Amino acid sequence: MHQISWEDSIWFFDIDDTLITTTTSEITLLGSNAVKDMLLKQFSEKDAEKLRKDFVNIFNILLAGHRGNHTPEYQNLINKIDAYQVDIKNEFGATKRWSREIFLKIAADKNNLQIPSDLLNKTINYYWKSISENAVVLPHVKEFMDLLIKHNKRIYLVTGSDARLVLKDNNQFSYNPISSEQFKQSRLLPLKNKGIPYTFACIGDPIDKPHKVLFQKAFQMAQKDLGHKINPKSAIIVGDSYSADLATPLEQLSFGLGILYKNGLKKTEVISDNQINLGNLLDITQFLKTQ
Ligand SMILES: [Mg+2]
Repeated sequence: MHQISWEDSIWFFDIDDTLITTTTSEITLLGSNAVKDMLLKQFSEKDAEKLRKDFVNIFNILLAGHRGNHTPEYQNLINKIDAYQVDIKNEFGATKRWSREIFLKIAADKNNLQIPSDLLNKTINYYWKSISENAVVLPHVKEFMDLLIKHNKRIYLVTGSDARLVLKDNNQFSYNPISSEQFKQSRLLPLKNKGIPYTFACIGDPIDKPHKVLFQKAFQMAQKDLGHKINPKSAIIVGDSYSADLATPLEQLSFGLGILYKNGLKKTEVISDNQINLGNLLDITQFLKTQ
């Protein structure tokens, strides 16, 4: 298979479910409790609890669909999410599926409750704060990051947008890619103190994974950081989704190696000349040339 030396290697990582997890049932519960706490400023205990439950339910339907379970319920939800983004679709060419603001708005609609735009924004800020604080670094990540540092390697992150949308008076949502990105940049910073001392995070605002533009942007940021051109064959992308993380760098940008992290995979598998599947990041080292 294609061999890259430690010295030449340039590292790009997905974050969610590759380096950290934020989707355990415990973290989801804590996040939804943060939603409820903020909603209690305006809603009764009973209504806030209904909104909390529906918010979680919407998240779970979307997550299951994202993982391939395309139920009619999922398609119905996608239609509702897209219906709130007519202006965004016109301006940016696509809608944002993962906007937590829209999840909460759809939950409010279902319960015939009105939620003002500023409360919606505050509630989702508080939700993300909870998610960031409770994120769990996955096994072997710290050790692997230490190894990269030992080899004088930089850590570049490529991650999806938080899709911070704002409810407007016409009952549509608007999107400012700059403020959406700034929000995510600041909420990622604590990762540096959790054993992931990254150089930069390239975020999917306005164009998200798996579009080529986002990975090209990350590649250019890396060249700028290093002060020289990079041979794409020296670039390594690590992620937990082939279609979202690996497909574009490998198939369109000639990256040298794709590492598909599969939580729980016991035995490392060489899939092709440029793809390895593994459940322990430390296993990557055996595929790198030492000189
Ligand atoms: Mg991921």
